[in-house]
Amino acid sequence: MFKLFLDPGHGGNDPGAVGNGLQEKDITLSISKVIHDTLTAEYNDVEVKMSRTGDAFPTLNQRTNEANKWGADFFLSVHINSGGGTGFESFVYPNVGPPTTTYQNLIHDEIMKVIGLNNRGRKQSDLHVLRVSNMPSILTESGFIDNPFDAGKMKDPNWIQAVGRAHVKGLERAFNLQRKNPAYDVIIPNLSYWQARALVPEYEQRGYQAKGVALKNYGPNEAPAENDPYQFVISTDYENAKNLVIEFKRRGYDRTYGQER
Ligand SMILES: [Zn+2]
Repeated sequence: MFKLFLDPGHGGNDPGAVGNGLQEKDITLSISKVIHDTLTAEYNDVEVKMSRTGDAFPTLNQRTNEANKWGADFFLSVHINSGGGTGFESFVYPNVGPPTTTYQNLIHDEIMKVIGLNNRGRKQSDLHVLRVSNMPSILTESGFIDNPFDAGKMKDPNWIQAVGRAHVKGLERAFNLQRKNPAYDVIIPNLSYWQARALVPEYEQRGYQAKGVALKNYGPNEAPAENDPYQFVISTDYENAKNLVIEFKRRGYDRTYGQER
């Protein structure tokens, strides 16, 4: 059993950083809910305890006490930055070394794949939640709320999804977590090359494994033409597959179906 203590930064009377009409406490909770829901719905043998699930403010000591008492395997604190910069960075306690730095590398890399912000690097800082927690811990800062470009990302629910799921993907790799459900493919069978190609980045941005698949064979130097027959395929789990089929049908892709891989 992998026990994650998940800590959405700030809350209640403490909004954290503010800017561009946003409050850090809301963004950290939204990202954390995606992390919680994805881990509990899609993985075996994972327990997640959150420092808060609503707009409350546990003190920093309450957060670390709870994690220590519970005996968490890992402490993940989710924050949003401010102060005139832009981009993503993550923190561990100074000179902590592996395995914490290994976990930081894996989680940091997965987030960088989807976040669409520049890489400010893996950093160290003497922060309470990193210092007082008894278990390996990291703190992520997913963009600057006072930067209009970063804040624009934070207003997009698909970005929140993707960033939350990337935290999960990093945890999956760091702790070798096993996915719960049999793998499913969601398939839109009747597209052209350009239609399939257009859908791929949209769903990759949301954290899905998406690809176009040619429905004819090409020679070694032959490129697909815009109107060649293609399928669009997303590989995911059963729950997501069910929802995606509904979503695609609503978008007019009437022949979308899901199948076990
Ligand atoms: Zn913060």
